[in-house]
Amino acid sequence: MFGKDFQRTYALTDQGVKNVKAGAFWTVIVNLVVMGGIGILYLLMSHFMDTLTENAPLPAAWPLLVMLLVFIVLSLVTHIQQYNATYGLVYGEVKNVRIRLAERLRKLPLGFFGNRDLADLTETLMGDVNRLEHVWSHCLGYLYGSYISTAVIAVALIAYDWRLALAALWGVPVAFALLFGSRELAKRNSEIAKAAGLQASDGIQETIENIREIRATNQENRFLQQLNDKIDHHEKTLIKGELSTGIFVNAASAIMRLGVATTILTGANLILSGKIDFMLLFMFLLVITRVYAPFDQALALISEMFISQVSASRLMEIEDTPAADGTEDFNPAGHDIEFQNVSFSYDNKEVLHDVSFMAKEGEVTALVGPSGSGKSTCARLAARLWDIDGGRISVGGVDVSTVDPEVLLSDYAMVFQDVMLFDDTVMENIRLGRHGATDEEVLAAARAANCDEFVQKLPDGYQTPIGENGSKLSGGERQRISIARALLKNAPIVLLDEATASLDVENETKVQAALSRLLAGKTVLVIAHRMRTVQSADKVVVLSGGKVAEQGSPAELLAMNGIFAQMVRLQTQGQSWTIGK
Ligand code: ADP
Repeated sequence: MFGKDFQRTYALTDQGVKNVKAGAFWTVIVNLVVMGGIGILYLLMSHFMDTLTENAPLPAAWPLLVMLLVFIVLSLVTHIQQYNATYGLVYGEVKNVRIRLAERLRKLPLGFFGNRDLADLTETLMGDVNRLEHVWSHCLGYLYGSYISTAVIAVALIAYDWRLALAALWGVPVAFALLFGSRELAKRNSEIAKAAGLQASDGIQETIENIREIRATNQENRFLQQLNDKIDHHEKTLIKGELSTGIFVNAASAIMRLGVATTILTGANLILSGKIDFMLLFMFLLVITRVYAPFDQALALISEMFISQVSASRLMEIEDTPAADGTEDFNPAGHDIEFQNVSFSYDNKEVLHDVSFMAKEGEVTALVGPSGSGKSTCARLAARLWDIDGGRISVGGVDVSTVDPEVLLSDYAMVFQDVMLFDDTVMENIRLGRHGATDEEVLAAARAANCDEFVQKLPDGYQTPIGENGSKLSGGERQRISIARALLKNAPIVLLDEATASLDVENETKVQAALSRLLAGKTVLVIAHRMRTVQSADKVVVLSGGKVAEQGSPAELLAMNGIFAQMVRLQTQGQSWTIGK
């Protein structure tokens, strides 16, 4: 009952399962104690009835009265225990599950985050865990305890009088069958509502982020209308979901309660035919209302339980993503990067096939090829942002998949197109390159990256805040900041994605000058877009459709007269057209 499947279905920790078991145990005890109390009440009332009819001596009731008192006290004590077990203990579970998730996130390959919507991830950490918390504390122990105690009570009632027992309890399995039948519907509705919710929050975020462009192009009405539609759609999916599960839950509750009517009917018949006395019917009615009570609470929450399984499976998806861990002991012999027969897939779609090449220390290796041929993927894999499916990637002879990503990355500096800048001062944005660098070191890097000149023109120089994601800076300026960061880090390996963004000639020359300072003596892997870079590279790897089509020095490749030679010809033609205009 509380095995691995149960643990996965509700995303519980080992301790969480223990807590739910304790909650279920105390629920069983509480329900049985209450039933015991009702049994004594029944004996006591029978005794009084006898006293009235047959003048039986009253004092004989004393032991029963004392027992009733004992049961009342027991009931109080066990209720407190149940409360502590179901609510108190389970609350700790929220913390544990969040910590477990955060630990997991820390160890996941960095590529995982590139692929996930961050709103979605936050929703899992906060929203999904909250939703589950309610189920852990209010449902599981209660419901599973009630299953067990009801089974015990049902056996006792059947032994006492099977006709009345059947009349009283037939509704319970029918109600549950109905609910479990509706489970898929509840889950599907919840998935739809969740997707609609994410769309709406994405829409809000997108509108805020792009408000400038939207205003500039007079698209406000259109965007607001789209946003309204998304929010409306979310609301509708929520109402539809609530309504359909509500119908099932209420129908189930009503069916269970029909048991009262059938018990009265059956009981009345049995009394009329002299088979039972009134007191027995009375006791049955008392017992069954007590049997229904815990189920009623559980029923009200059962749709939440089903829906929470969607939350739990989102949590488990994160837990099931293989972690990228490894040794912190990273002592490579030099920093040559070698790809040996590497294959790699995104979402089961293979995008690199049998890729082999070597990027030597002290050399610039250019990756070229049409868009989508796998250049960025190769660069990301070199830094172990993802783990590969087959083959081997090594740095200085050490397989990168055996090294802790944090340790590995300390040997890499990355200058990518989508430079991430933070809403902080220029100084702090550059300092991100190396935690703890002094102001002098930051300034030296900034100068070497040709940042100084434009930073001096900012109102507060290096202390000027640069706006979220550097919105106050031009493309070339942002890139130079990211080069300054890389210079400050001074890592032996540089991964560089040349910007395709059109930089003006002055900016481009400055970026180039900054880059040549950064690249000297390093292992450089560059995703090259400009012929100038390609032709001055020590080695060129031409990718096409995820395979290495050609590799060698630019001169060798030109002599081969293959794809590379053709690309050079095309680009040269392109240039002569521009000049000729
Ligand atoms: P390039 O840098 O040469 O333009 P990429 O390495 O970006 O090529 O892409 C190689 C292939 O992998 C393309 O088909 C692209 O659509 C796919 N791809 C790239 N990134 C992802 C991703 N995060 N998830 C799924 N597919 C991706």
